[in-house]
Amino acid sequence: MRLSSYFLPTLKEDPAEAQIMSHRLMLRAGMVRQASAGIYSWLPMGLRVLRNVEQIVREEQNEAGCQEILMPTIQSADLWRESGRYDGYGQEMLRIVDRHDRDMLYGPTNEELITDIFRNSVRSYRDLPKLLYHIQWKFRDEVRPRFGVMRGREFLMKDSYSFDLDHAAARRSYNKMFVAYLRTYRRMGLKAIPMQADAGPIGGDLSHEFIIQADTGESEIYCDTDFLNFDTSNAEYGDDKHIKNIVDYYTSLYARTDEKHEQEVFEREVPEIRRYVGRGIEVGHIFYFGTKYSEKMNATVTGPDGSDIVVEMGSYGIGVSRLVGAIIEAYHDDAGIVWPDSVAPFAVGIINLRSGDTACDTACEDLYAKIQAASIDVLYDDRDERAGAKFADMDLIGVPWQLIVGPRGLKSGIVEVKRRATGEREELSLEAALSRVLS
Ligand code: ATP
Ligand code: MG
Repeated sequence: MRLSSYFLPTLKEDPAEAQIMSHRLMLRAGMVRQASAGIYSWLPMGLRVLRNVEQIVREEQNEAGCQEILMPTIQSADLWRESGRYDGYGQEMLRIVDRHDRDMLYGPTNEELITDIFRNSVRSYRDLPKLLYHIQWKFRDEVRPRFGVMRGREFLMKDSYSFDLDHAAARRSYNKMFVAYLRTYRRMGLKAIPMQADAGPIGGDLSHEFIIQADTGESEIYCDTDFLNFDTSNAEYGDDKHIKNIVDYYTSLYARTDEKHEQEVFEREVPEIRRYVGRGIEVGHIFYFGTKYSEKMNATVTGPDGSDIVVEMGSYGIGVSRLVGAIIEAYHDDAGIVWPDSVAPFAVGIINLRSGDTACDTACEDLYAKIQAASIDVLYDDRDERAGAKFADMDLIGVPWQLIVGPRGLKSGIVEVKRRATGEREELSLEAALSRVLS
């Protein structure tokens, strides 16, 4: 992509309405624009990151044996009346009446709809277990939308649902998702701590929230400090026993959100010096709720002996759009965003220090063509701008590898390779620079 023609409306000044860093940087880097309170349009730069995050989530769901579907944003109120949640959900639900006076709603979550799909399509215990997910926009009319995409009213969520024959099988599905979550966040460079959580309006008795420690987070957290630096590199799949061991390991230390926090237990289990009380960002939440929906909505399968068995369910959410903000909270410095490679909008940026100079233009065009040919996303700053402005923009938008091409270096066949995360710069030949960013 050539920056001269790219739709990238960056801002020089910090926008007054943004209270936290990720919100400021997303506006300044031209990633999103507010459409109305808590509702955002994603511009090209932001959309690239959103898609990268979404793709990691998708790959890890697929890897866990979860199958992708796509349910609509608009649902019928009747299904929610069946489960008994229509009245209880309150003002967070955006209720809509269609032209035939039918009550509809913009889905805040999908337990009812998926249960309806399941009960109409699955008949036998032999078809279990089933794990299904979709990545779809949700609407919750939050009292206080704030912090940009972190607490929006319209937001992108991945939600999965498991259907099993009995409690033990449902636990296996839960455990598998638990491991999938550890892997998903790890790939984004995040340490998301699983914490015992309250099941809230989704209901149920077993639930974990995945939380990233951040002072700007909205969740109050209490945990063993050993957990803050924990290593998830051994969170891999294996047989059921192996997966269970991983879950046991990552739930062995005290880690709870405020609703589940018990001061006496905290003090008993965690030595004073290791008691962390702080804040965090909830980037995922998993629930096992048994037959809460299947019973009310009559989702059954025929068991081996011919009798009807009410299926056991769980649901598993990841805040895809919130993650974009959460990653920025974890990865930024004074100059702007510092994207982890796995989610960066562009892997490489080329800065032409003197657009219009034949040698500079030729070298940049050559690099640009070769990087594109390797199917690597590259942003070429070919604008007629001061060098300082180009450096600032490339750092603001956080491109991980930057190739800096100027007339002086080129005389001896040299360009600079800069790593955004460390600020390290290296002078390399064009060839060596290319192989550095392509490897
Ligand atoms: P919160 O406690 O932050 O309001 P929640 O517990 O109501 O979230 P869940 O129903 O668990 O949310 O939804 C699953 C995930 O969706 C959450 O873990 C979070 O990452 C994301 N999410 C929930 N609400 C919002 C929102 N208003 N804006 C952006 N992401 C959200
Ligand atoms: Mg939650």
